[in-house]
Amino acid sequence: TQQQAKASYDAQDLWQKDKNHFIHPFTDFSLFHEKGCDLITDSDGIYVEDVHGNRFIDGIAGLWCVNVGHGRAEIGQAMAEQATRMAYFSTFNNLSNAPATELAAKLAELAPAHLNHVFFSCGGSTANDATIRLVHYYFNRLGKPTKKRILSRTNAYHGTTYMAASLTGIASNNWQFDTLDLVTHLSEANCYRRPEGMSEAEYCDHLVDELEQTIERLGADNIAAFIAEPIMGAGGVLVAPQGYHSRVQAICRANEILFIADEVVTGFGRLGHFFASEAVFDTQPDIINVAKGLSSGYAPLGATLISDDLYAVLSTPQGPGGVLSTGFTYSGHPVSCAAALKNIEIIEREGICENVLEVGPYLESQLKTLASHETVGDIRGSHFMMAIENVANKTTKALLPVEARVGDRVAAEAQKRGLIIRPVGHLNIISPPLIWTRQVVDDVVAILDEAFAATTRSLKADGYL
Ligand code: PLP
Repeated sequence: TQQQAKASYDAQDLWQKDKNHFIHPFTDFSLFHEKGCDLITDSDGIYVEDVHGNRFIDGIAGLWCVNVGHGRAEIGQAMAEQATRMAYFSTFNNLSNAPATELAAKLAELAPAHLNHVFFSCGGSTANDATIRLVHYYFNRLGKPTKKRILSRTNAYHGTTYMAASLTGIASNNWQFDTLDLVTHLSEANCYRRPEGMSEAEYCDHLVDELEQTIERLGADNIAAFIAEPIMGAGGVLVAPQGYHSRVQAICRANEILFIADEVVTGFGRLGHFFASEAVFDTQPDIINVAKGLSSGYAPLGATLISDDLYAVLSTPQGPGGVLSTGFTYSGHPVSCAAALKNIEIIEREGICENVLEVGPYLESQLKTLASHETVGDIRGSHFMMAIENVANKTTKALLPVEARVGDRVAAEAQKRGLIIRPVGHLNIISPPLIWTRQVVDDVVAILDEAFAATTRSLKADGYL
């Protein structure tokens, strides 16, 4: 049983091995060398448990991904059945497997009408990486080899393979890392920190102008694609002004620039729809990338959904024996695809998108009650994708010094009270499993209320406020 398995862990031994040998992604080594890591060993529904048996509400769905919640035995069972029947075989050279085929067809059914073709990868970074390779190949095949540059945005997050990190626009993420000179970053759409005195509509015009001027400067003949998250996630849960995405898409279309939506976070229910691009933002991307909620994190998986028009070019044989020579050993991994199929079945059967549409606005409105706290500058996002921006001064929006570690403080205070949320610099992100109820929202907001009050006290005690 779970209890017996848990009893068999030696917490001290694991902690030490982890500290000695595991290079953690995105980890602050000044804390790691001192404190090591918290080991999360168990999970159930909206909860996770650490190796010492402390239970927490999971406020971040693992890492924006465990959309259907933890401990879904039927997903585990589907994976086990597939692993014992046929764990792996190649999908190269005209070979396929049943779960990958079924999943490709299911994604084509769920996606906007013109996106009917699926290229599988191992996660979000590899989906974005494969996408840019396919986009370059597409224009090469069209005889337009100068169309190479990709437009992204500051504070965008698209992953950490070399290409995905280059698309990423969060400066601190690439500090002392090199990037590829293939990307031009436009300004992010940040309504909270838009220029003083600009209305939201004027701000939208301003961003669209910047895009038009950039295309003019670089030349449309040199630009292959524009990539954006419908709502920017790790860069601070930034919701663009009304109409921004559709205006950008229209300009891209007029300049033969492909419009790529990175729906790694926004997809699979987080905003109440399988795909947010068309349903929420009224765009028809040429390509949509998904990962995370696609398998609810039960197995690594990413996918690039490609339009009929692009597919027509990509699938034109270049001559006898010519192949589309890109792909991963694990493109269409049968066990991951089996997990995704069961995950999608659960989302549909349990009406999880409907839950998000119902509880999401409640989460937004309840989080907004935290605005009275001294450090809470902005509460933003949509449905199950929310962030709170901490500031030193609400009027000037000045930030607290980095050393104050305000995001870490709030997260630690919440964790003490049984809730895990994610600190990102001066922000705290809340991106829960999509099965939270109104009651859970009430419990979470009560914890956060105490956590922000305690944070204000500790910032005052340390002389930061
Ligand atoms: N794209 C977006 C929008 C993401 O938020 C992430 C991860 O957080 C990625 C891509 C990268 O995905 P992965 O970490 O699975 O490679």
